[in-house]
Amino acid sequence: MERQYTNVMEEIVVTWVKVLISGMEYQTFCSCSKCKNDIITLSLNNLPNYYVTTEERRKRIFENLNTEENRKWINNRIINAIHVVGQYSKH
Ligand SMILES: [Zn+2]
Repeated sequence: MERQYTNVMEEIVVTWVKVLISGMEYQTFCSCSKCKNDIITLSLNNLPNYYVTTEERRKRIFENLNTEENRKWINNRIINAIHVVGQYSKH
């Protein structure tokens, strides 16, 4: 069944977490699916939701979030989550 609503922030965070933890900078951090999900949920809990129901709104919100300032802000929350999860993961 097709979901009728989307959290634009979730889409962005899920994509960026995948990119960041597969990058050189975070090779020492665990990238198993449990840690990845922990990083995603921790990041999302520290960022506002942007739920939309239409593709048009989705595009507009995405454009609004895709500024240098906003990218830096979202990136910082994700990096913080990577460090927190890395510190507390038991494996
Ligand atoms: Zn792990």
